[in-house]
Amino acid sequence: MALITGGATGIGYGVAELLASLGAHTVLASRNGETLEAAAARIRDAGGQASVAVLDVRDAESVRAVVSRVASERGRLDLLVNNAAGNFYAPSATLSPNAWRSVVEIDLFGTFYCSQAVAPVMRSQGGGRIVNVSMTLHYRGWPQMAHATAAKAGVDALTRTLAVEWAPWGVRVNAVAPGPIPTPGVLKAFSAPRERGTDAAPATALFDVKQAMAEYAARAIPLGRWGTPRDIANAVAFLASPAGDWITGAIFVIDGGEWLQRQPQ
Ligand code: NAP
Repeated sequence: MALITGGATGIGYGVAELLASLGAHTVLASRNGETLEAAAARIRDAGGQASVAVLDVRDAESVRAVVSRVASERGRLDLLVNNAAGNFYAPSATLSPNAWRSVVEIDLFGTFYCSQAVAPVMRSQGGGRIVNVSMTLHYRGWPQMAHATAAKAGVDALTRTLAVEWAPWGVRVNAVAPGPIPTPGVLKAFSAPRERGTDAAPATALFDVKQAMAEYAARAIPLGRWGTPRDIANAVAFLASPAGDWITGAIFVIDGGEWLQRQPQ
């Protein structure tokens, strides 16, 4: 059984869809019950197994309650994918404390709360896998993303620390670091970079996002295309499979070579 936070949309849904097609029971967990039910129905319509859990990963107590419920309903919990995240661009100088706190709490605290909740279940069943969804933007400077880059740097640190701490329990903790993938969440963040998180007036679409993205892919991604949720899902499935038995504390960059390439001046 696989619990996927943010599993109803974007990359999380891609992960759920692939794992379900491989025979896993998937539990999609996030805040919006309607979106969750619709996503789970799509998976079931395709012949997979999916159920839902309404959950705010910032609330440690409700995270523990949901994990305990789904683990007892399903009998075990093999995989946790910490994918939920907040997503918007905002200038650091005017980022409000609330916006900063919100993203750090979802991305970093949420990853910790979910991991801490599943660890005893995995320990008692003899092991399990945790895959954190990180990013690559904190490997270099990335303007207007101080909140998310700081949080994901923390996620990378958690990945390595928990990998070592929980290895004796058979719990493997790894991360995937996607490059740019035009999910609806990302398109929204690109289009309205100042809509949330600052006192500035709401921004309207600043440029043709799809056109700008096509140009960016040609110029800045060595493998010449944007990623897809399936690109990330494939790596998660690998880490969750027996092929990942001797892998823990690893952070797999899946970005078509984007972050390694020197950007044109
Ligand atoms: P997305 O579709 O916006 O996914 C975010 C998901 O997180 C949503 O399903 C959302 O559902 C859920 N979520 C947000 N706050 C939550 C909370 N407090 N509690 C529970 N769930 C919450 O974005 P995405 O592009 O697929 O991103 C997925 C992951 O990939 C994120 O960790 C992101 O940082 C990472 N990533 C994405 C890219 C990219 O280019 N797309 C690149 C690098 C890394 P609700 O609103 O219903 O709660």
